[in-house]
Amino acid sequence: MSGATRLAEPLSRVLGARTAGGLKKLGLETVEDLLRHYPRRYGSPGERTDMASLATGEHVTVMAEVRSTQVRSMRSRGGAMLEAIVTDGRDTLQLTFFAKRAGVLRMHESKLKPGSTGLFTGTVGEYRGRRQLTHPDYLIVGVDAADEQEAVIEASRPIPIYPAAAAVPTWRIGRSVRTVLDPLTEEDVPDPIPAEVRDERSLPSLLEALRAVHVPDSVVAWQRGRDRLRFEEALVLQTALARRRAAREQLAATPRPARDDGLVSALDARLPFALTSAQDAVGQEISRSLTGTIPMMRLLQGDVGAGKTVVALRAMLQVVDAGGQAALLAPTEVLAAQHMRSLEQLLGPLGHGGMLGGDERATRVTLLTGSQGSKARRQALGEAASGAAGIVVGTHALLSEGVQFADLGLVVVDEQHRFGVEQRDALRARGERPPHMLVMTATPIPRTVAMTVFGDLETSTLGERPPGRAETVTHVVPADNEAWLARTWQRVREEVDQGRRVYVVCPRIDPDEPGPEPEAALAGAGGDPGADAPGDEQPILEWEGDGAQRPAVPMASVAETAAMLAERPELVGVRIGRMHGRLAAEAKDAAMAAFAAGEAPVMVSTTVIEVGVDVAEATVMIVLDAERFGLSQLHQLRGRVGRSTLPGLCLLVTRAEPGSLSRERLDALAATTDGFELAEKDLELRREGDVLGAAQSGGRNSLRLLRVVKDADLIDLARGIARRLVAADPELAGAPALASAIDAWLGPEREDYLERG
Ligand code: ADP
Ligand code: MG
Repeated sequence: MSGATRLAEPLSRVLGARTAGGLKKLGLETVEDLLRHYPRRYGSPGERTDMASLATGEHVTVMAEVRSTQVRSMRSRGGAMLEAIVTDGRDTLQLTFFAKRAGVLRMHESKLKPGSTGLFTGTVGEYRGRRQLTHPDYLIVGVDAADEQEAVIEASRPIPIYPAAAAVPTWRIGRSVRTVLDPLTEEDVPDPIPAEVRDERSLPSLLEALRAVHVPDSVVAWQRGRDRLRFEEALVLQTALARRRAAREQLAATPRPARDDGLVSALDARLPFALTSAQDAVGQEISRSLTGTIPMMRLLQGDVGAGKTVVALRAMLQVVDAGGQAALLAPTEVLAAQHMRSLEQLLGPLGHGGMLGGDERATRVTLLTGSQGSKARRQALGEAASGAAGIVVGTHALLSEGVQFADLGLVVVDEQHRFGVEQRDALRARGERPPHMLVMTATPIPRTVAMTVFGDLETSTLGERPPGRAETVTHVVPADNEAWLARTWQRVREEVDQGRRVYVVCPRIDPDEPGPEPEAALAGAGGDPGADAPGDEQPILEWEGDGAQRPAVPMASVAETAAMLAERPELVGVRIGRMHGRLAAEAKDAAMAAFAAGEAPVMVSTTVIEVGVDVAEATVMIVLDAERFGLSQLHQLRGRVGRSTLPGLCLLVTRAEPGSLSRERLDALAATTDGFELAEKDLELRREGDVLGAAQSGGRNSLRLLRVVKDADLIDLARGIARRLVAADPELAGAPALASAIDAWLGPEREDYLERG
């Protein structure tokens, strides 16, 4: 049987239907699935769970030593019970088993020998003031050994602890893994890491690594195995990216070289400010890319207010100067209209092409949206198709609607979290020469993530904000502190009286809507196979089914909060506006206009105002139930204030307890205004799965061991090797196992995912 077939064998055939059925609940169906189900961490027989830390009602797995066992018959109820006492050396826990006949209990008694060590799993209960596990599942270390010597070795080995489910305890997984692993030979397990790379880096083979992580002799052994598997993940991912990059470089784009006497220099001459050195440097990078024949695929990241628009405009004008057209896409019509206004303002007469009194170099900027009247839309379509419009501004739908351009040379995508997947698909479907692409994002992506997830993208970063901007100060406000809250609404009043605007953001629209999950709950879900060594957390090995942390207090809603504010004595006579996604387009426009004009200076809203909304007089951002939002989302919300010379204030109202993960995230936000620093912090506080987004986590092929922040150097190394491999052998003909690992990793969903890069 060939290697690939061996690994693809269904577990039901190897382990039998019953065992396979349990493993299927964990999503494990083939031999390879099971072998790739790595231990979450390792226990050591010398390490005991601190009994004092066990709480009633928790599902736990504890490591402890058996002190005594006793079988008794129960006179009152009939039948028999076995009581065993286990200990961490100080406190004790009772294990209780019931049976009709004492004989049944003898089996347990013979295994639970005083002095032996084991893992015990169950729900902590209490009986007469004593904590106990009733009918726990358990594993006694060394009990399966053939002889005493083997038992001694067994007892000194690290014990793999698997991500488990209540129905399948960790040692049952371990036993299945060994059954599957034992008969395998090197031929059965093709190695995605090519032999020469393995030799060069002195790495163990895949089979050796699997043995080391699943059946380790020592701590050093599993660490070495884990490091190799981690490198393998990095290499597979980076080779996939390198191949894609190589393919993209095969496509020729039309070069759009800069002109000295064109619109770019005319714009520079009329800007009311000097470009910052960051804008200048990034502008040159982009300009160079546009000059080449390789289609540009660049991420322009810059914190909120960093001045990305003018950078994008200069890039678009370079393309217009070279005879092409540019499209600027925004996520919503409101933002598209806002972009249209800011471009018109920046361009002045340079945007009045074909009009009387326009500059002779002038071009035309055209807005194209779905809600336009049919006459305006027809005209806009005509200008795009004829080339009269040098710049077309619209929503992301613009390209998929099949709008015709005379010569589209550059697509700029603004504030999109999904990195233009649909746009690129739409462009590809047309079979034209690919335009250059520039994706702007204010959600900073740390270098390490850009490298892992968007490995074939170029990135440019505006690290410095334009001068003369006021800072925004952020405070965390405990929701249960009435005095603070009263002070908060008083402060709102003071701002309003000075002609300023205040946002109040709530996690949901009305009281019966579920609203977002708390971030902390998300972060706590799922395993962390990347967790370092044993001992970096409490030696209670696992918690399962923890539903106790949901707060009982309902989340703030726009409806209730607006009604509540209308009643606050501090806000008498202040008109309170409302804004959320379920309002009709006109109602949204009206609410926004009333807010901008100061008629309704307090706006209670959902996160619809998160991105791009620009009201210079807005100075205060209050976020209710702030722990419900992601860090980058909060940073975006905070970016809605402090947009002029007026200093901003951001108040994060929360019920999160000091010291909790949720609270730590809010404190991190309060401690810095640097979006990049925050994004790094966010990554540290999150699990990797969240970093890659919902579609990327939890699948069978998600990153298992690689940690995008901590493994930056490893990823860098893998990237270098991957590019070398692809350059020497683009089809990977000499590395079939690597090629099929990439295919397996990609899958249909994955294809899209890499498209983002
Ligand atoms: P963002 O990066 O958030 O999209 P914008 O492009 O909207 O930021 O710029 C924010 C504000 O800063 C705008 O009003 C813009 O005109 C202004 N701005 C941009 N560059 C500079 C600069 N070099 N000096 C001063 N103000 C600038
Ligand atoms: Mg912007």
